[in-house]
Amino acid sequence: MSFIVAIDGPAGAGKGTITQLVGKKLGLVNIDTGATFRCVALNMIQENINIQEEEKIVKMLDKINIEMYPDGNVFLNGEEVTHRIRENDVNRFVSPVSVLPMVRNKLLEVQRRIAEGKDVIMEGRDIGTVVFPNADVKIYLDATAEERARRRVAQNQEKGIQSSYDEVLQGIKERDRRDSTREIAPLRRAEDAIYVDSTNLSIEQVVEKMIKIIEERRK
Ligand code: C5P
Repeated sequence: MSFIVAIDGPAGAGKGTITQLVGKKLGLVNIDTGATFRCVALNMIQENINIQEEEKIVKMLDKINIEMYPDGNVFLNGEEVTHRIRENDVNRFVSPVSVLPMVRNKLLEVQRRIAEGKDVIMEGRDIGTVVFPNADVKIYLDATAEERARRRVAQNQEKGIQSSYDEVLQGIKERDRRDSTREIAPLRRAEDAIYVDSTNLSIEQVVEKMIKIIEERRK
């Protein structure tokens, strides 16, 4: 029997960093489902396919191969794309791509397969509501849009990338709106998810809080 922890929440709430740390501490395999959507978006960019070209997308999805390794490396059709899928063109394209029903159906299958038989901590937008509605633990990790924008600008700065706070905030709000108003699998808190607001908490404090919640359930 596998043990499944579902972490959902908006872009920039800290899901990536926190699930990695919590997963490591508790010996859970960390699965970043956003990376699977990013791979589909990148594959469409590589093959010059636009959102309207349904037939081409179906064909592409038929032969797509996404692999994710415990060290965080991501491979798309045999090529390492771990960093490539975080670049700006993919950032901009991934949200509209993730609205497409055929993409969501395909990735639902991929995500369930990746988790099969393992103890996992899986992060995304619809893990507790759609992918694993019977997950052992569900956490909804949130923060205000302003705080999330501030963190993103600081992250960029560390990487040597200059970005304007207003533009980043605009981008985050746009992504929130798109992710939560789409028809299929919108971003929303599952009724039985525990709500964690990270706005005024440090990374360590959030990690500690989550470990407590998970260990309580695991007993
Ligand atoms: O988490 P990350 O920012 O990498 O996700 C990229 C995009 O993929 C999100 O903005 C969202 O549109 C989409 N996504 C999704 N469902 C998930 C994970 C990500 O729709 N479970």
